[in-house]
Amino acid sequence: MNIFFDLDGTLVDARNRLYLLFQHLVTGSKFSFDEYWNLKRDKISHKEILQNQFSYSSEEIRNFERTWLQKIETTEWLACDQPFPGVTEFLIKLKEEHTIFVVTARQFEVVAKQQLAGYGWSEIFERVLVTGQRQEKYSLIDDAVKTSDVDWFVGDTGKDIQTGKKLGMKTAAVLSGFMNRERLVEYSPDIIVGSILELEF
Ligand SMILES: [Mg+2]
Repeated sequence: MNIFFDLDGTLVDARNRLYLLFQHLVTGSKFSFDEYWNLKRDKISHKEILQNQFSYSSEEIRNFERTWLQKIETTEWLACDQPFPGVTEFLIKLKEEHTIFVVTARQFEVVAKQQLAGYGWSEIFERVLVTGQRQEKYSLIDDAVKTSDVDWFVGDTGKDIQTGKKLGMKTAAVLSGFMNRERLVEYSPDIIVGSILELEF
């Protein structure tokens, strides 16, 4: 079967990168890692945080958002990422029986592939599908791979679950990323697990 994995929050722990970049850009922020992620996991946007807690003007928010997009996928900040423990071994084993893909909404394909190569993952995936934020994950997969109802989509966001369902796949939500159980339940995935290591296909 085909198994599609989201990248950030599913295979890779990107929480430090996002937290540290926020702290870097918002000099008045005294958030701890947990404080920042509790807000994000409650789906509170940067815009709301900046407006309500730091009294940012609309222009300051626009500047923040622009700088965020410019920096968040640079090699310098991506160095804050780490594969979740045990993921490499898990994927190598999975590849023996299944065809596995990465699907990510990252902006830059080349940089994403470099990052995966740095983890020794170049030979593991059949394809690395990067939306470049020019199309939805759904249409990217639909154009590239013939999927069926035995295939799986694994991700950490509601959008990931919607993507899998729209393609008629089974869906697994992981709690290792950017959303909590309460939020993920609303999207009715077939299964919710703490991390991908708990999945059996
Ligand atoms: Mg994700």
